[in-house]
Amino acid sequence: MDNPEFDSHLFRTTRAQLDQVAIRLGLESDIHERLRYPRRALVVSVPILMDSGKTEVFQGYRVHHSTVLGPTKGGLRYADDVNLGEVTALAMLMSWKCALIGLPYGGAKGGVRVNPRSLSRRELEHLTRRYTTEIMLLIGPDLDIPAPDLGTDEQTMAWMMDTYSMTQGKSVPGVVTGKPLIVGGSAGRREATGRGIVYALYQATRRLGQSLQGLTVVVQGFGNVGSVAARLLWREGCVVIGVSDVQGGIWNPHGLDIRQLEAHVAESGSVTGFPGTEPVSNAELIERPCDVLVPAAVGSQIREDNADRVRATIVAEGANGPTTPQADAILRDRGVTVIPDILANAGGVIVSYFEWVQGLQYYFWRESEITSRLQEVMTRAFNRVWALGAKEGTDLRTAALMEGVRRVAEGYRVRGLYP
Ligand code: NAD
Repeated sequence: MDNPEFDSHLFRTTRAQLDQVAIRLGLESDIHERLRYPRRALVVSVPILMDSGKTEVFQGYRVHHSTVLGPTKGGLRYADDVNLGEVTALAMLMSWKCALIGLPYGGAKGGVRVNPRSLSRRELEHLTRRYTTEIMLLIGPDLDIPAPDLGTDEQTMAWMMDTYSMTQGKSVPGVVTGKPLIVGGSAGRREATGRGIVYALYQATRRLGQSLQGLTVVVQGFGNVGSVAARLLWREGCVVIGVSDVQGGIWNPHGLDIRQLEAHVAESGSVTGFPGTEPVSNAELIERPCDVLVPAAVGSQIREDNADRVRATIVAEGANGPTTPQADAILRDRGVTVIPDILANAGGVIVSYFEWVQGLQYYFWRESEITSRLQEVMTRAFNRVWALGAKEGTDLRTAALMEGVRRVAEGYRVRGLYP
């Protein structure tokens, strides 16, 4: 089946990764073929009455890649370059990620093509509520459970939960994760992805004979993932020498005080202009000398044209798809250890799973339980990937994909093909 409607850079990449892994795993061609397509994809129009009095129509998507291991799970992204192909690729990556970690979920993703910074709070709320209504037939606590991603946050999830709940005549906390605590969110969810990156880095450095203490770190993106990773690594004794956001980056080779930086961001809305730092562009930041680079913003930041100038020895992928396959090969040849997205940033979906379970049981855990279980799950997944990479002689990305794809394929194998 040819499907130009899914065509996008990330979809081509994600599918090519699947094809290579299928060969390595010796997958049956019928299962391989089924894995190459999403189970279903919904395209919706989202009309909003803007503050100006005009009506604007935004394009939205929700894609379920695979439902073989359980209900689907995946974030909702607001960005002005969202398209069906990208959302489909991200849903496919969620399938591998959930299976790799051992969560009872298939992969999904959603998105609206909009720059969230260009909308007022009222417009954002209306956009979220109307989008939720349009995708209502695909979501539900035992069907598909959205979560925050790029450009969305706890507030977005609260509006989604409220909109869904209103149509049911009762509160349904299990329909989304990443909600505020007061309406059934989980302790530790906001920090989960950044914290998971720290656990993955701890394991990687241990195996490379290093310790986190004193390592120099650069973080691209200072949102939910990047700011938490920066803060927790700084607390572990790393020296965070550069960070950035969409407006640009800052650099101080002696290290940044992340607490003070967070206060500056809370006041000014950006990391730029933080006293005592040199301004750098996002492109420059990737090439600055450091031990650990954490891309935690958008995709395709490490490419063929800059990968040979990356000076980090470890890249921990907070973002989804920050490294292109060509860049991946260059980094591998140069001996850079890349902790791939589906492993490094899995902390978010792990604690989302904890939140979902707590919501279904109306029984909530202490934050210390959440963090210790998160550490345990991340460490187990890291060990499996590391061991598989050593056994197969592959990099960590190939090993992680092999493990994720193998488990999804096993689900298809035992369930068979309906009818
Ligand atoms: P966010 O919206 O909270 O933060 C994004 C950050 O990146 C902001 O600082 C923003 O200014 C910056 N940014 C945006 N566009 C940029 C650009 N073109 N260049 C440089 N910086 C840019 O988003 P988030 O939730 O932190 O997500 C970041 C990445 O992590 C995304 O790729 C997302 O898919 C991935 N991710 C997020 C989670 C989660 O739990 N939130 C989980 C797994 C993966």
